Amino acid sequence: MDCLFCKIINGDIPSEKVYEDENVYAFNDISPAAQHHILFIPKEHLDSANDLDEKNAKCLSEIFLAIKKVAKEKGFADDGYRIVNNCGKDGGQTVSHLHFHVIAGKALGWPPFPNK
Ligand code: 5GP
Ligand code: ZN
Repeated sequence: MDCLFCKIINGDIPSEKVYEDENVYAFNDISPAAQHHILFIPKEHLDSANDLDEKNAKCLSEIFLAIKKVAKEKGFADDGYRIVNNCGKDGGQTVSHLHFHVIAGKALGWPPFPNK
């Protein structure tokens, strides 16, 4: 499959790996929005949150536990962070492999969508 993040998982495209386990891969975003900007992805290809079902949704708990671990290791767990999933065109998703942005290192504004 011609998927950028599948290529990152299998090493065809280089990435700055932050975390890996059996089902989850995490790497630094190429265009960071803050001091820490890490993408967490399931190794199984899912286009987006719309592809989740009862069989594959276990990746969500695995991803969130990986996020918790990395937040502690990187030292931003206590100050806090934001977890973002963009889904589809209107959600601003540009890469069609389910991913969670973890952004940390500064106080983040809210709402993140000031334009109506
Ligand atoms: P989305 O807009 O789909 O929610 O997020 C895609 C993210 O992937 C963007 O933040 C973008 O900077 C990041 N990205 C796109 N291409 C690459 C790449 O080749 N390497 C890395 N590390 N990040 C990428
Ligand atoms: Zn993929």
